[in-house]
Amino acid sequence: MKVGVPREIKTHEYRVGLTPGAVREYVAAGHSVVVETNAGAGIGATDDSYRKAGAVILNSAREVFASSQMIVKVKEPQASEWSQLREDQILFTYLHLAPDPDQAKGLLDAGCAAIAYETVTDANGGLPLLAPMSEVAGRLAIEAAGAALRRHAGGRGLLIGGVPGVQPARIVVIGGGVVGTHAARMAVGLGAEVTILDRSIGRLRELDELFEGRVRTRFSTIDTVEEEAFAADVVIGAVLVPGASAPKLISRSMLSSMRKGSVIVDVAIDQGGCFETSHPTTHADPTYEVGGVIHYCVANMPGAVPLTSSQALNNATLPFGLALANKGFSAVLENPHLRAGLNAYRGRLTCEPVARSLDMPF
Ligand code: NAD
Repeated sequence: MKVGVPREIKTHEYRVGLTPGAVREYVAAGHSVVVETNAGAGIGATDDSYRKAGAVILNSAREVFASSQMIVKVKEPQASEWSQLREDQILFTYLHLAPDPDQAKGLLDAGCAAIAYETVTDANGGLPLLAPMSEVAGRLAIEAAGAALRRHAGGRGLLIGGVPGVQPARIVVIGGGVVGTHAARMAVGLGAEVTILDRSIGRLRELDELFEGRVRTRFSTIDTVEEEAFAADVVIGAVLVPGASAPKLISRSMLSSMRKGSVIVDVAIDQGGCFETSHPTTHADPTYEVGGVIHYCVANMPGAVPLTSSQALNNATLPFGLALANKGFSAVLENPHLRAGLNAYRGRLTCEPVARSLDMPF
């Protein structure tokens, strides 16, 4: 199959659909890959590194779209890209269609088979192409907290791990899923005192075993959240209720009893956030302060580390992408996990929750 990788054009998006390493795998499997010039610039991958991996470099996105049977991207296609997609093409990328009727119309008009990374499933009921970005965001959350805790940034002036003889930061992670586990892992690694709250007792049991006593676990209730937040230096918001906005677990009045100079990192901000006082911020201006508490609420945290994020994403997408390249659209019909990823096909929406939220026929 002829596979195309255009340069990402969404503002501040530096990741790339296929890294040179992934291109090499496609080429080794007998496919040809065309890459737009400078597509890998954001991760330091030169056109030459793509050529060495076996790709052909094209000068424009238009040529890439025109000559490919499958387009592999990172972010949802932008308005200028919709009209370049065709009915005989597969689009494999993040789509986040539910809140985006204009993009839905663009894809339906194009008629392509649009497979959304975020709805591809695995045998355990997980979302394997979303998980790597949660891993990145979870680990990054502790780095962000460490920076915000510094005095000149408005924080308490505390080093996360302390030093011998001085107590470390108390870090409370609300939500012990992928983000929460990776945040806790980093925090434990730095020597922090870590507590994880979750609403699932089963998950708390798994975490207890995983961390072998190095974190405290608590069932998440209004009481326990309040108690833990009161004593925390850092609170990481990492909850997810699938298909719903994040529940507001820390109200403005609870916030007022938190320590001055403490930090909250609301990773769940992309689902509306789990602190009443959260609003989305950007990497250019990531924090603000409310009631003496520093808020970090960047909605696209993995964008800060496009090299790590592109590699992690490519590791996860590779087997699915190769299956699509090997078998074409039949791969979607044969593989229920890829079928779960299909959001639009030949002018119709094919993912029920997406169609429902857009109030469009399914
Ligand atoms: P996940 O499903 O793996 O984990 C969510 C956890 O939250 C589950 O263990 C669940 O039991 C728990 N939970 C639900 N309600 C709770 C409550 N009231 N109290 C405590 N725990 C509760 O999800 P994830 O992959 O870890 O993602 C977490 C959030 O981070 C999501 O909103 C996701 O969209 C977001 N995220 C944001 C970024 C970013 O850049 N800001 C990047 C990746 C993920």
